[in-house]
Amino acid sequence: MKAPATITIADETRIADAASQFIDLMEGYTVFAFNGPMGAGKTTFINALAGHLGVAADPTGSPTFAILNEYVGSSGKPIYHFDLYRLESEEEVADTGFIDYVDSGNLCFIEWPDRAGSLLDPSATVEVYIEVDPLTDARTLTLRYPE
Ligand code: ADP
Ligand code: MG
Repeated sequence: MKAPATITIADETRIADAASQFIDLMEGYTVFAFNGPMGAGKTTFINALAGHLGVAADPTGSPTFAILNEYVGSSGKPIYHFDLYRLESEEEVADTGFIDYVDSGNLCFIEWPDRAGSLLDPSATVEVYIEVDPLTDARTLTLRYPE
């Protein structure tokens, strides 16, 4: 098992560098579950990742809430960004086609992965935890790889 990795983001101006570190730590995995409370910085970080992967349009520009945002990076492959916050059961998650997306082999970045329950295969999912330092507002990301 690969040991956990951590990335520290001192403040939001350092996020591009953190995104590039993260990409170096992806290790060929495609499914990343982002855990952390509301306001931790999950959406902000995933948007920074998308930017680094060559997604042209600024995804933060979208005014409407979406459970799934589909981006296309410079590789030409889709990148799926899920926000499962408003879904209330595994069944609702499954109804979005979630399983096909995570099995597609394309990158999937998932906010509120607990909503997906057992739909996520722990042997193929990198669990990412975002913690906020209450004094400095710095973020620490921890990546936990499958066993
Ligand atoms: P989440 O998706 O986890 O609910 P957001 O990405 O929407 O969180 O971020 C919430 C707030 O935290 C935003 O105001 C954003 O500007 C701020 N923020 C996000 N990432 C960082 C960071 N690395 N350092 C400082 N502030 C951040
Ligand atoms: Mg969010």
